[in-house]
Amino acid sequence: EKPAESHVFEADVARLLHMMVHSVYSDKDVFLRELISNAADACEKLRYESIETPSLSGSDPESRITLSLDEERRELSVEDNGIGMSREELIEALGTIARSGTRAFMERLESGKAGEGAQLIGQFGVGFYSCFMVAERVDVVSRRAGSDEAWLWSSDGKGNYSVSPADIAEAPPRGTRILLHLTEEAKKYTSRWTIEQIVKEQSGHVPVAISIVDKPGSEPVRITDGSALWTKSKNDVSKDEYRDFYRGISGQYDEPALTVHFRAEGRHEYSALAFVPGSQPFDLFDPERTGRMKLYVKRVFITDDAGLLPRYLRFVRGLVDTSDLPLNVSREMIQESPVLSSIRKGVTSRIITAIEKLAENEEDTFLTLWKNFGAVLKEGIYEDFERRTQLLALSRFRTTASGEGYRSLADYVKDAKDGQGAIYYLAGASLEQLRASPQLEGFRARGIEVLLLTDQIDSFWVMNAPEFEGKTFRSITQGAAELSQFPLLDNEKASLPETTAGAESFIAFVKDKLADQVADVRASARLTESAVCLVATEGSYDRQMEKFLQSAGR
Ligand code: ADP
Ligand code: MG
Repeated sequence: EKPAESHVFEADVARLLHMMVHSVYSDKDVFLRELISNAADACEKLRYESIETPSLSGSDPESRITLSLDEERRELSVEDNGIGMSREELIEALGTIARSGTRAFMERLESGKAGEGAQLIGQFGVGFYSCFMVAERVDVVSRRAGSDEAWLWSSDGKGNYSVSPADIAEAPPRGTRILLHLTEEAKKYTSRWTIEQIVKEQSGHVPVAISIVDKPGSEPVRITDGSALWTKSKNDVSKDEYRDFYRGISGQYDEPALTVHFRAEGRHEYSALAFVPGSQPFDLFDPERTGRMKLYVKRVFITDDAGLLPRYLRFVRGLVDTSDLPLNVSREMIQESPVLSSIRKGVTSRIITAIEKLAENEEDTFLTLWKNFGAVLKEGIYEDFERRTQLLALSRFRTTASGEGYRSLADYVKDAKDGQGAIYYLAGASLEQLRASPQLEGFRARGIEVLLLTDQIDSFWVMNAPEFEGKTFRSITQGAAELSQFPLLDNEKASLPETTAGAESFIAFVKDKLADQVADVRASARLTESAVCLVATEGSYDRQMEKFLQSAGR
């Protein structure tokens, strides 16, 4: 027999482990949901690979996860009969950080304040390594489906791990057993009652049945049935069940802001269950972040990057399960499938309709959603031509009339002045800065509302949204504002001086002095208190867009 080889953890793993072990984070329970979710993933991978190679599942096609407790030895094990890992896979998967989520987590940790890390663990979970929060040693025995070797990976989480051949008689017939030698403080995880509570709360809707063996030698007892929540009818699912499922699928520990569950039975048959999270995922603006809708075919997990939603809905979490695709659907087929493009349309519409209903019926919840995801939804105004008007109508804005609240474009149009053909906006980096801008003076003095746009995306969509209810979008920093046609509010009239002949010669003088720097100098109705302001020329970029392009090196 070969001796155990010793390996050193990748530097990132070592750092992560150190943080895990020393974290003061009190909710260590999350390790269990991470191990169970890995076990379920492994079962689903096996189901998927068995479509091509049925022999992998052999005579035992039913997926199982078994938790075994041993109070005397202070041990807890999580065993699955899924795909298992080869020696190379063990080293790759448990010795390095391959996953982008964990990388993003590490980066956030580096940049963040001390103490935030502990919070982040609970919020995002950081996979397998979280078991070192409760274990002083972890032994992973794994046998890849179809292989006649088994391997043992073992570590105390302090910098090294070892890999050695495992006794095939002791290994699971197929799949992985993760044995935790619990620390003294974590001995409660050998209590059946504790484990059952945690599993039901965190992993009750994992689509693989979970059983428990409460002491060595006793029979396994089922504690969850692995039935897929989404196949049930809406009326049979409680709010708590939806929430638990959402937590499992998103890894976030908040309440969903919106739940959309439906079954389509027209041209294509599919079920969809989708959630808008109650808070922002940490990588929302990561350029690599794509949609997070999982694709299932007849309850078999296929992929989570089937592009089931447009990019501007990338914050939505959930799944689609259809019976209209073959189980062995390939990557190319997924990209070109007319079935999927029709499902994509259907799901997108249902989600947007649900957001519209929320805006109508539950304003507070909608505004929370808007604060978290409005900047992403607005990308759709120029990416999704068909739904542009719908998305504009959903959008909410800070304006010169909004105070601390929000206004819709419908509100704006309703209160616009007679003869006002434009929706005026001012774009900039922050609300404080915008509210202090002299550009607003003439508009305030006439009681004309101006949208205050502070999201980076705003400068883009305004250029591409030609109109809303017949009014065009117009930057107040751009060209001559056609302000003089609107009367001043009564209390402003007295304070405004006339433009005199003296002004003409003064303007000529300034123009001469600044000839190289500015295109024109004009007397303007936009100012009532300040002496001067800079505006962009008609037909060029708005000032904020100019700044943005400059900073991007254009
Ligand atoms: P993630 O699940 O997000 O990939 P984890 O840290 O939870 O990250 O797990 C890392 C990797 O280890 C998984 O991607 C998988 O390849 C492997 N793995 C972990 N547990 C199991 C298991 N029970 N069966 C098979 N592979 C596993
Ligand atoms: Mg995982």
